[in-house]
Amino acid sequence: MNKSDIITLPDKALRRSSRRVGLITSEIKKLVQDMQEATLSWEDSRAHEMGVALAAVQINKHLRVVIIRNNFEDKNDRTFQVYVNPQVTKAYGELVDDFEGCLSIKNIYGRVPRYEKVKVKALDSNGKEVRLTAEGFLARVLQHEIDHTKGIVFIDHIKDKADAFFKLKDDGSLEPLNWEKQIKNNKQLWQ
Ligand SMILES: [Zn+2]
Repeated sequence: MNKSDIITLPDKALRRSSRRVGLITSEIKKLVQDMQEATLSWEDSRAHEMGVALAAVQINKHLRVVIIRNNFEDKNDRTFQVYVNPQVTKAYGELVDDFEGCLSIKNIYGRVPRYEKVKVKALDSNGKEVRLTAEGFLARVLQHEIDHTKGIVFIDHIKDKADAFFKLKDDGSLEPLNWEKQIKNNKQLWQ
């Protein structure tokens, strides 16, 4: 598996909801391995970004499986935590806007409202139930990935689109995009 297996908008498969996983079979373990390979292959092709997380739907497998990097600060740590059938059981605090990107939305970043803190329930890669309370960036990543398992992408959360979108430039900086002129009618990006 590599980065070319990652599907991107406007592929409608991203909008389909994924099935719950019953048992953690060898196929699920292989799926996790494929997702890790695809994410790291994508990261290796990008100069300024980290492959922080991926949901199985992004490699066109409609199962509720999510992987999230263990260390957001260090690209050399190429390990992931696995979340099977993850769900938010409680959200706390305010909705806070911050930058988000997605391996399935090429080069576009947006300012997305997310809860500051969430409680999540899932199974780990051995089928054992895990519960965690996450804050800050991890809370944001969990909400983004759990959305993917339901066919939701980050752009869906942006109500006021006028000043919310940015393009990643070759030097790694973000440049504001004009919603009306540069995004709204661009079918390559948007659907
Ligand atoms: Zn995403």
